Amino acid sequence: DYAVQLVDLYKIYKMGTQEVRALDGVSADFDKGSFWAIMGPSGSGKSTMLNLLGCLDRPTSGSYYLSGRDVSILDDNELSDIRLKYLGFIFQSFNLIPQLTVEENIALPLYYLGWSAKERTDRAHSLAKLVGLEDRLRHRPTELSGGQQQRVAIARALSNDPVFLLADEPTGNLDSATSMEIIELLQKLNQEGKTIIMVTHEPDIAKFARKRLYMRDGKIQKVEG
Ligand code: ADP
Ligand code: ADP
Repeated sequence: DYAVQLVDLYKIYKMGTQEVRALDGVSADFDKGSFWAIMGPSGSGKSTMLNLLGCLDRPTSGSYYLSGRDVSILDDNELSDIRLKYLGFIFQSFNLIPQLTVEENIALPLYYLGWSAKERTDRAHSLAKLVGLEDRLRHRPTELSGGQQQRVAIARALSNDPVFLLADEPTGNLDSATSMEIIELLQKLNQEGKTIIMVTHEPDIAKFARKRLYMRDGKIQKVEG
């Protein structure tokens, strides 16, 4: 059972007469319930892959099946709908809304999904508890440590019960001890069944994933685990 299947994906940028093959024939199956790390040197195609997986961009050719549905053919509005309903994003710089409380940040996607205030509050409280921030619901992001802010971002990313969590260098702005706490939280979520795909260039972080996919020159060089 696959969360994501990529079939012969190409992303080609035309630069005058030159072309850059940011993805050069990538096929991969991301199984449900796994925890993947996507690795590779700068320029190998990690960001391009992340943008495609996150439905932020479309491939030049090839197919992307999300829970069996081909999303590579959808238009911008349909893609943004897919992101809101089915995906959860975690970023290096947390990307919380400073004016909103922890509770409101966690519930923000649910607001756009049309949940009632009561449903949003209940969900935000249970997610805050899951990430260990039940006593911080009324705080604003600036009143929290970096690790706490990333926990809020993780709770927000989980609010819509996404098909997978897509994490872009989630520990890139955190010190080692805090990075470990965040990786342990991601491992816990994975053990509870959440599918996670994480892009990182740090081997010390990638080793905590169950599977590692190495990119090179727009191709998958190898898969471990
Ligand atoms: P990584 O994230 O591994 O550093 P990227 O996916 O950003 O790699 O880039 C892969 C290749 O595609 C690189 O050669 C990069 O220069 C090129 N590339 C990425 N985005 C663009 C773009 N918008 N226009 C032209 N070339 C691009
Ligand atoms: P009002 O303008 O009267 O606050 P809204 O429908 O905008 O009415 O908000 C209703 C409830 O939803 C309020 O409790 C508010 O705190 C909450 N709310 C408003 N905007 C957001 C948001 N972006 N994210 C989460 N909760 C929100």
